[in-house]
This record gives sequence, C-alpha cells and structure tokens, in this order.
Amino acid sequence: MNRRNLIAAPFLQLGRKARPLIAGGFVLDAFPLGHKLRDRNPFPAAKQQRKTPLVIVGGGMAGLSAAWWLLKKGMRDFVLLEMESEPGGNSRYGQNEVSAYPWGAHYVPIPNKKSPLVRELFEELGLLVDGELNERHLCHSPQERLFIHGRWQYGLEPEVGLSPKGREQFKRFDELIGQMHQTGKWAIPHAYGQVDAKLEAQPFPDWLKANKFDAPELLWYLDYSTRDDYGCSLNDTSAWAGLHYFAGRDHDDKGPFCWPEGNGFILNHFRQKASSQVQPNSPVYRIERNGKQWRVRTPNCDYDTPSIIWAAPSFLASYIIEGQPKATAFTYSPWVTANLTLDRPPKRSNTAELAWDNVIYGSQSLGYVVATHQSVAMHRDKSVWTWYYAIAEQTPDAARKTLISKPWEHWRDLCLADLTKAHPDLADCVTHIDIFRNGHAMVRPTPGFLASPSRQQYLKPQPGLHFANSDLSGISIFEEAQYRGIEAANHFLTRR
Ligand SMILES: Cc1cc2nc3c(=O)[nH]c(=O)nc-3n(C[C@H](O)[C@H](O)[C@H](O)COP(=O)(O)OP(=O)(O)OC[C@H]3O[C@@H](n4cnc5c(N)ncnc54)[C@H](O)[C@@H]3O)c2cc1C
Repeated sequence: MNRRNLIAAPFLQLGRKARPLIAGGFVLDAFPLGHKLRDRNPFPAAKQQRKTPLVIVGGGMAGLSAAWWLLKKGMRDFVLLEMESEPGGNSRYGQNEVSAYPWGAHYVPIPNKKSPLVRELFEELGLLVDGELNERHLCHSPQERLFIHGRWQYGLEPEVGLSPKGREQFKRFDELIGQMHQTGKWAIPHAYGQVDAKLEAQPFPDWLKANKFDAPELLWYLDYSTRDDYGCSLNDTSAWAGLHYFAGRDHDDKGPFCWPEGNGFILNHFRQKASSQVQPNSPVYRIERNGKQWRVRTPNCDYDTPSIIWAAPSFLASYIIEGQPKATAFTYSPWVTANLTLDRPPKRSNTAELAWDNVIYGSQSLGYVVATHQSVAMHRDKSVWTWYYAIAEQTPDAARKTLISKPWEHWRDLCLADLTKAHPDLADCVTHIDIFRNGHAMVRPTPGFLASPSRQQYLKPQPGLHFANSDLSGISIFEEAQYRGIEAANHFLTRR
C-alpha cells in the first residue's frame, strides 16, 4: 500500500485487526423513486379505479395528523397514500436486537397552554394526564451535555472556559429572549402568535450585529441551534427564526418528551388509528383535473376524488399536480442520520455521565442521542447512538450532490472521526453503522420565506386542494406538522 492509499484507507478501520470490521450500509434511500417522480418517468398503469371523498397524499406527521383529526370527527371514508413501505416520513424509526432508534424526529418539547391541539393529542397518548405531565415519558436526567476544551460539561450553553464577554452576552441574550416570550407573540405553532415582518425579512447575523452579539461561544451556540432545528447555518436563517427557536418555548420547560423510537412513539398511535385508511407503497405520480374532480394516479390504483390534502413536501407538488406552479421560495436542507450499534460503552473520559443528547463544541455535526437512555435497566452495555449531521456548510444543491456521490464508507468515517474527538476508543465499541441520506429533509427558514409570494400561494386553498406539509410553516417540527394537517382537515370538513 503506498502512502496515498494508506491515507485514504478507511479511518479507524486500521488497528482493528482483532475485531470484525464495522458492518452496515445505506438504508431508506428514496433517491431513485424521488428522481423518477421529478423526471416524470412512466409508471405502470393501475389496474384498479376507486372513488373516494378525499385523498391525503403523504403519510408523514402532517398527513397522519389530518387523518387523526378526521377520524375524531367521525369521517372514515378517505385514503391516505404513502409512497414508502411505511408511513412516518421524517418521524420513522428502526429497531434491532438492542433497541428501537429514530431515523429523524426524536423529541417533542412540553406543549404549553398555547398549543391546545398538541395537548389534546398528548392527553390521548397518556403523556399528559388531566393536564399534568406523565413523568415516565419525560427525558431522564442527565438530558444534555457538551464536549468542550477536552472535557464534558452538563448543558449545551458553553460554560467551560467561557470568557467574561461571552458570559455577559449569554446573560443579555437570555434576558432579551425572556422579554420577547413575555409579549405572547412567539408561539408554537407560530400561527397562534404574531410573526414580526421586519425580523422575518432580516438575516440573523444582521440582527446579532445590530444588537452587539459577537462572542464566539454565543455565535457557536446560536449556529448549533439553527442547524439543529432548521438544518441550516445561522447565516442562512432569518432573525425571526433564529430567535423563535428560543422565544417560542417556555424557559422553565421540564421536557422534552422522548422515546427510544423517537417520535415513532406518536407515529405508532396514528398508524393504529388510521390503519384502514393508510395505503403504503402508493407513490402518487400524477394528479390531473377531471372536471370538478381530481384523478390521483398511483401504480396500484387511480382515485377519483373531489378533494385532496397534499401533505407531501410542497416542492414536489409542481412535478405531480397538473398546472401547479413551482414552489420557488421553498429550499430544503439535506441531512445525514447514522445509527451506530455499540456492544459496549466507550471508556468514560471524565465526570459527566452519558446524557440523552451529547454535543461536541465546534463540530459541524449535531452530536448524538442515545436510544437506550430511557431504559430503566440497572446495567446495560449495548446501546444504539443516533448521530445527526445537517450539511449546512454547503448550498443545498451542492450538499445533495455530496450526499448522493459519496459512498457509505465516507459517512461512516466522518461520523467516527467526529465522535472519536470525545470518545477515543469508540471504533472498538461499534459493530454496525446504518446511514440514512435525506436530500430534502427540512425546509429552511431563510430571510423573507414566510412573506414570499410563493409560500402565500401555497397557503391559499384552491378548489378541492389544500396544502398541509410542515414546510408551509418554514419550521420543520412536530407541532407545525400537526397544525398544518389539522388546518387542512378542518378546511375540508367546512367545505363539505
Ligand atoms: C433528521 C431530522 C431530525 C428531526 N428531529 C425532530 C425532532 O426531534 N422533533 C421534531 O418535532 N421534529 C423533528 N424533525 C422535523 C420533522 O420533519 C417533523 O417533526 C415532521 O415529522 C414533518 O412531518 P411532515 O408530515 O410535515 O413531512 P414529512 O415527514 O416529510 O412527510 C411527508 C411524507 O410524504 C411522503 N411522500 C412524498 N412524496 C409522495 C408521493 N408522491 N406520494 C405519496 N407520498 C409521498 C413521504 O414519503 C413522507 O412520508 C426532524 C427532521 C429531520 C429530518
């Protein structure tokens, strides 16, 4: 092996001669089908035809929330078409012999009184009992820790080595956020509050500069936050969205709720409720006007319907729905999620115990969450860690090219190299790494997106067509998906 090959050799696989190599591969790849839809490639003609009062397209949290709401209101006669073999979208999860683990969404903060729909669902799920928190589902302690300057600290706001300037700016930022929250204008879902148009149009860095926030620790923390919730860097985020991450939530939140399977916990409830309506393996490849009806085409069945709730990502609509304009203002961040199976924990480096959420200061990744964290077993060696990385340092188009062109070994090595900073012996603990590449994972709340004519056009219901994906909110979280789904369902019920 010459020197060049040696450098290119898989990171950390060297020196593991005594142990089997790490197994794994790509999972849940949606590129081939997605590109087939985009390119309007032909699908086999369906052998069946059906009439139905309503078709919901897309079985993510938005589509399933619409279904949940309709069923609650006594409406059972509809179908929900999901292109994948399982519903759930960004809230899907996996399972192996060690644990269930998320492929995307993994927590929901405790809904405050301004989120009645989330509270209603959470009562049904037993997460709230007569308005009180069911502690069994709250994230156990320690919840979060940060690896900074070679050691772990609890909490994600940098404290180790924090400069006096950084301390002053964190305090001032917290005070400002507290004042904003007090105004009642910052709500989740944000439609229950009031979006400040000036802040929404302003880039977050401009707001920070104008308010004299420049401490590197604070800027890192804010950039981590926008990458975590929106998949894009602080530079690409509107000031409103950058602040909403903090001002929209209660300061004394005792949450979040989390589960080994992440938001798959909620998904399973929806899936059970709507089991007769959900049709997996049903990619909708074309929707045509047929008088006052729509014809919704899938390879298995064509549906004639007067009403559609489009809960698939909005950018796809113009490729599928006849005459639908392009969703030009919608941009999406690509994500990589890796699930690592460990047959033993890495050696502990210092006092801060493994937390549910573990973040590395200065890293481009978002660190990892531990699927077995909520386990009440006294002793547990094996675990599954879910590592998240939004490719925020490239444009979305460039990042998607990287995402699709690099082999599994590239992402495996990137993930191990990242986590090895905090866990030097990690590669000896890991037996398996599966990787999910999600090219259009999350909508990006770029400056001016909420006010853009393109979004306004998609918000306005058309005769028999209502858009419902969480991307309409500019913020990809469960609460927004639920709100959009229920809004669309209510619109359908009113029209009927
Ligand atoms: C890595 C990651 C981590 C996240 N973590 C969290 C978290 O911890 N908490 C949180 O609240 N949120 C989180 N989110 C945000 C998450 O996106 C939302 O919570 C929510 O799941 C979005 O639901 P949705 O229904 O709006 O969209 P999606 O989940 O995108 O659902 C759209 C569905 O439409 C289907 N579809 C697309 N095209 C077609 C077609 N032509 N025909 C039929 N079906 C089609 C898709 O397969 C998919 O199932 C995370 C997202 C990602 C990517």
